[in-house]
Amino acid sequence: METLEKTHKTVDRPTFKAQYDHFIGGEWVKPAKGEYFDNISPVDGKAFTKAARGTKEDVDRAIDAAHKAFQTWSKTSAAARANVLLKIADIIEENLEMLARVETIDNGKALRECRAADLPLCVDHFRYFAGAIRADESSISEHDEHTVSINLQEPLGVVGQIIPWNFPLLMATWKIAPALAAGCCTVVKPAEQTPTSLMVLMELIQDVVPAGVLNVVTGFGPEAGKPLAQSDRISKVAFTGETTTGRLIMQYASENLIPVTMELGGKSPNIFMKSVMDKDDEFLDKCIEGAVMFALNQGEVCTCPSRILVHEDIADEFMKRVVERTKAIKMGHPLAEDTMMGAQASNDQFEKILSYLDIGKQEGAEVLCGGVKANLNSGLENGYYIEPTIFKGHNKMRVFQEEIFGPVTSVCTFKTTEEAIEIANDTMYGLGAGLWSRDAHELYQVPRAVKAGRVWVNNYHAYPAHAPFGGYKKSGFGRENHKMMLDHYRQTKNMLISYDKNKLGFF
Ligand code: NAD
Repeated sequence: METLEKTHKTVDRPTFKAQYDHFIGGEWVKPAKGEYFDNISPVDGKAFTKAARGTKEDVDRAIDAAHKAFQTWSKTSAAARANVLLKIADIIEENLEMLARVETIDNGKALRECRAADLPLCVDHFRYFAGAIRADESSISEHDEHTVSINLQEPLGVVGQIIPWNFPLLMATWKIAPALAAGCCTVVKPAEQTPTSLMVLMELIQDVVPAGVLNVVTGFGPEAGKPLAQSDRISKVAFTGETTTGRLIMQYASENLIPVTMELGGKSPNIFMKSVMDKDDEFLDKCIEGAVMFALNQGEVCTCPSRILVHEDIADEFMKRVVERTKAIKMGHPLAEDTMMGAQASNDQFEKILSYLDIGKQEGAEVLCGGVKANLNSGLENGYYIEPTIFKGHNKMRVFQEEIFGPVTSVCTFKTTEEAIEIANDTMYGLGAGLWSRDAHELYQVPRAVKAGRVWVNNYHAYPAHAPFGGYKKSGFGRENHKMMLDHYRQTKNMLISYDKNKLGFF
């Protein structure tokens, strides 16, 4: 693993306020209890700002503001709402470089990924839902010659949205854009590990969003997330996070019969069929990179391809090349231009991943590369860096079954297509999967047999706004992205209108 070069010393670090308040009803509001908590940057393990420590009082205040705004926002035209979304997209685009740097300090991910993926995707998602809501029409049909049936899509109301720390701005965007497009008002609770980038975005967009339509309360899960999910004044909870937390959120919401959508964890298989090595060409090179995609975003992706399933006849040579490519990943200061992999998002996550490195070794998995924390210098000694790691073992091991959420993948082999499918489906999760092959039959049949909401075929980790995304099994339910998402923020009202003067004839 290459060590840090001097380049990071010259990179521009964004400036932050000493502390950020909640954003409620179009205003910056101090936390009711007056408390703030440190936001630690994973880059160097130091606090770089403070966030408001939200409690039930703050959440209630935000819900009040959202209800007030809903009276107006729910009655605006789709065109007016679309214009707000388009303005948000423009502002993100104009400030993309600054926001990318903020996200890097907040989350630890490499700047080049924020710049090339996270932020452009945020822009595109806002634009997509601005277009989708305008293209969406209520439907009218004739029940009989005197009766017309009108289906109206009405916004659900005020919704609660709880966000994880792995893609702070993008995960917030996935929720905010469709909710606002549908005519809902929202109270958003970002993750306590990464509360800052969304507040910086709110500073930029506060003047283009009507007061109360989009409220953000920062704080910890049990203190701020729980009262939001428990409130009987919200119409839906949209949650992204761990499966165990998802279970709790469902319990809270069930008390008030509030619908939930759940985007949860994963243990995604990345399957490499024998034909990938039929030729030593560009496609094989793409497949090798496809196997290394487990290191993207430091592996902190719900769809991280954290299991590699490779045909036994090609396994040795294929994995030799995958290991070589993995070892060439450049780690360093996440703001440095040439850094490919940055820091894990928090100390807790760092410790959790290290414990899984021990678990893998203890249960007898062979370490093909990595397996240790990365020792970076020049001020990064206290940051949360881990070398990209590949274990070799079998699918019953814990490192094959449990979500590590770090730059760790575990490889095993298969003999037949049936066995590959069986191993792929043998976890409690069903979020993502990858299939790599030159065989047209396999390219269709294997993805059909894999129980996952998203199967990438000869590619991985693309997240276009128009492609529905979500889990099978314990990876959740409901979908994000795609215009079908609007239906998660609306309910259908049917009006059945009679133009018949004749009596109904019953009484
Ligand atoms: P987490 O479940 O710990 O936290 C997610 C959010 O829930 C945070 O905002 C947190 O404050 C809040 N929360 C925690 N406890 C709560 C409680 N008792 N009541 C209300 N809110 C509570 O998850 P995380 O560690 O932030 O994120 C990582 C997880 O998210 C991984 O499991 C990953 O797979 C998953 N994830 C899934 C998707 C997807 O689309 N399926 C996308 C990204 C991340």
